[in-house]
Amino acid sequence: MKNDQDQQIRRVVIVGGGTAGWMAAAYMAQHLRHLSLEITVVDSSEIGTVGVGEATVPAIRDFLAAVGLRDADVLAATEGTVKLGIAFQDWAEKGHYFFHPFGLYGVPARGVPFHQYWLKLQSAGDDVPLSDYCLCTQLAQQGRFLVPNPRPANDLGLFDFALHFDASKFAAMLRDLSLAKGVTHIDGRIEGVERSKGNGHVEAIRLANGQRVVGDLWIDCSGFRGLLIGDAMGVGYVDWRRWLPCDRAIAIGSENGGVAPPLTTATAREAGWQWHIPLRHRDGNGYVYCSEYIEDDAAEQRLRAQLKGVPIGEARRLRFTPGHRERFWQGNVVAIGLAAGFLEPLESTSITLIQSGIERLVRLFPDRRCDPALAAVYDRQSRLEFERIRDFLLIHYCLNRRMGEPFWDYMRGLTLPDTLQMKLDAWRAQGELVRYEWESFQEPSWLSLLAGFDERPRRYSPLADRVSEGELRETFARMRSAIADTVKMGASSAEAERQLRAAGRTR
Ligand code: FAD
Repeated sequence: MKNDQDQQIRRVVIVGGGTAGWMAAAYMAQHLRHLSLEITVVDSSEIGTVGVGEATVPAIRDFLAAVGLRDADVLAATEGTVKLGIAFQDWAEKGHYFFHPFGLYGVPARGVPFHQYWLKLQSAGDDVPLSDYCLCTQLAQQGRFLVPNPRPANDLGLFDFALHFDASKFAAMLRDLSLAKGVTHIDGRIEGVERSKGNGHVEAIRLANGQRVVGDLWIDCSGFRGLLIGDAMGVGYVDWRRWLPCDRAIAIGSENGGVAPPLTTATAREAGWQWHIPLRHRDGNGYVYCSEYIEDDAAEQRLRAQLKGVPIGEARRLRFTPGHRERFWQGNVVAIGLAAGFLEPLESTSITLIQSGIERLVRLFPDRRCDPALAAVYDRQSRLEFERIRDFLLIHYCLNRRMGEPFWDYMRGLTLPDTLQMKLDAWRAQGELVRYEWESFQEPSWLSLLAGFDERPRRYSPLADRVSEGELRETFARMRSAIADTVKMGASSAEAERQLRAAGRTR
């Protein structure tokens, strides 16, 4: 076995300078430094970026640490705020509320998950909600923040947090970082792509000013257009509108007077849902909707009518097709970001998909032959990740009880993918939480949704009878009081940056 140096990749070209392009550049410049690659980002300031994408999941902090950025510095540079989870308003029915935290519920005992004991007490008439056993939820609902203890005494103290940030400031921060790591930036509109007559690999792109840029490996971060993966390589798109029919969004900023709760809010509306993302200098708002159930102008009016503060700037209208590319890696082109696929931002998953795509590519980093065996592994893992997230999004819709509203009636009546149906059936049978490979959302997240929608199983696991009702009641009361004591130690979420600096660590 010998690595052929002539076949080593020398030039990586990233097409697109949105969040995906600059995340890829910063990460590859850091983690493939030993290969002395020439990394070039080509984008077009004339075309610009999609300009949304402001809420994340906790994995973003692994990415930041991996490229050498500290959470507190990112918060300061991007008008950022902390996020402990997502509040869901009106999803089950109007007036109904639940919270999806980045944290655990209760403490398991004698090999039995906590929620089985909770179900046992519920079946005995107890009505304390599951959320009372989650520190993260309690902090968020009281607008407080604590830097998570990396070694808590038990599961009760386990939680995490993510960030909200201004998307354009985040991309600018990553661009500066990438340039400092030796990445080259070319601003120019791409007008042509040259492919090899032999193996079909992309060899070069031509820009409007006549410049020709050559490369060995191409990362397509060109957004919804999919300039390389779609237009040049002809890879098709798997359309998931039959499950996730929302296909448009309107986004607008609004004034917030500097008040930023540590959570994203998703409120169900007649033909979709509305996001609220609190930043320091403004709120981000948007209505994600299905164009078959509401006209664009009516959707914009509804969004404007619901804003808490004075609107800032013009509303932006976006169109999308939920789904993903049939293949994510074709020849010497790998698609990352919106060029790879898109799922509505209900659980803030696009940036985390960008992150896992980049990490996967670095792990499988090929030579110039781009062995199709590596592409096959990359594709399989990417597809499974998309499918798992699709199922998780679907659960937000299919359990609704908003009877008589056409969009919600349709969503309740969907035939679900088998993977999701099996999960639901297992939960309904006996509170069993099924976990597949490549899940972005683990059992506590599924539990928060199932319990949040008041979806009760037919029975609890007989294993929960290992502990008597009396003992459970005492232990549960102790857990609630431990959580209440810890929440009192939390500071206002506006203090998060100071707390993070004082704690002096990222991850
Ligand atoms: P873009 O930002 O569109 O960048 C494309 C780049 O390609 C640009 O630099 C452009 O100039 C360049 N380009 C295109 N064509 C050419 C050409 N011919 N020549 C040269 N350059 C070219 N994600 C989250 O994680 N959380 C969220 O809360 C969230 N909310 C969202 C809300 C909505 C309504 C939408 C639509 C998306 C949301 N996303 C969210 C997704 C998120 O916005 C994207 O994943 C992220 O911004 C990455 O986009 P991108 O870099 O792939 O594409």
